[in-house]
Amino acid sequence: MKDVNILAIESSCDETSMAIVKNGCEVVECVVLTQMDTHAKFGGVVPEVASRMHTENITMVLDELLRKSGMNKDEIDAIAVTYAPGLLGSLLVGLECAKTIAFVWNKPLIKVNHTIGHIYANNLMKKMNYPMLALVVSGGHTDMVIMKDDYEFEKLGSSLDDSIGEVYDKVARVLGLKYPGGPNIEKLAQNGKYSYDLPKPVNDDTYNFSYSGLKSAVINLVHNEEQRNNEINKEDLAYSFQVVAIDELVRKVELAIKNIGVKNMIIAGGVSANKYLREQMKNLCEKYNVELTIPDFKYCTDNAAMIGAAAYPLYLKKDFSKLDINASSYSSFV
Ligand code: AMP
Ligand code: MG
Repeated sequence: MKDVNILAIESSCDETSMAIVKNGCEVVECVVLTQMDTHAKFGGVVPEVASRMHTENITMVLDELLRKSGMNKDEIDAIAVTYAPGLLGSLLVGLECAKTIAFVWNKPLIKVNHTIGHIYANNLMKKMNYPMLALVVSGGHTDMVIMKDDYEFEKLGSSLDDSIGEVYDKVARVLGLKYPGGPNIEKLAQNGKYSYDLPKPVNDDTYNFSYSGLKSAVINLVHNEEQRNNEINKEDLAYSFQVVAIDELVRKVELAIKNIGVKNMIIAGGVSANKYLREQMKNLCEKYNVELTIPDFKYCTDNAAMIGAAAYPLYLKKDFSKLDINASSYSSFV
């Protein structure tokens, strides 16, 4: 079969990224321009600033992609783009860019869900084997999903309140750490030990999660100690929080392995960059002989290569979009 090259665009939050992905699994080139340093000054992503920066940067990113890949429009088979979920203004910049390229180059347009993109980042490592358990841990999701085939999702459970990434970010903020919170908590936790007794998320046997209690407990602890003028050991608190938050993921995955007989598993989303999570999941999967795939660090955070990977099965099904599609800030994929 002829190779399929998809040019993919991702702009759902604060990364402007474009990639060319061959056959859904091989990254020809991927350019990522992050706005992280700008948003760090404000303690989080400022939507208006993000969309403006995407507008300023997107044509430069396209130029760089074409220059670095050495490819031209005749070698591209389709244009893929993240249409949801994310910041509306940011999504629209990528979407308009994709529509314009698709129109001018006369290529089919493929719309991709960002969260599904995170799952398909695993195809850049190794072809995903079905049936498979996907643990999606990001700024917006804490989901356990069974995939029986490409784009066949069956939800086992999800967070009933805050997502794990959101809680990482809130805890980071109360500890005075810079945005983005997750990697900074992880760094701080490296020198910590378990010394704060924090409440376990949900002690049940469903596949749901609840992280708001843990978040409130950390925030209250910090505020109470501050009011009493007591010193907080931030390293220990970061470590204790991380252990409680991630051990709950491990416990629920173990439950699924035992109950459902999972043989293949992937982890997806920004929190999958966390080394403690990666290590704990590796140990668990080794214990039960489960084949585990986790994306390389550079494909855990937002990037267009994962969007190109997720677009490939849609290309094969000719699941193309019209040029009047809209962006959406919210979208559930299961
Ligand atoms: P996403 O929503 O998939 O784009 O991922 C963003 C989320 O991942 C944010 O909440 C980050 O704080 C979180 N994150 C990124 N890196 C790490 C890390 N090393 N440890 C924990 N959380 C992380
Ligand atoms: Mg993301």
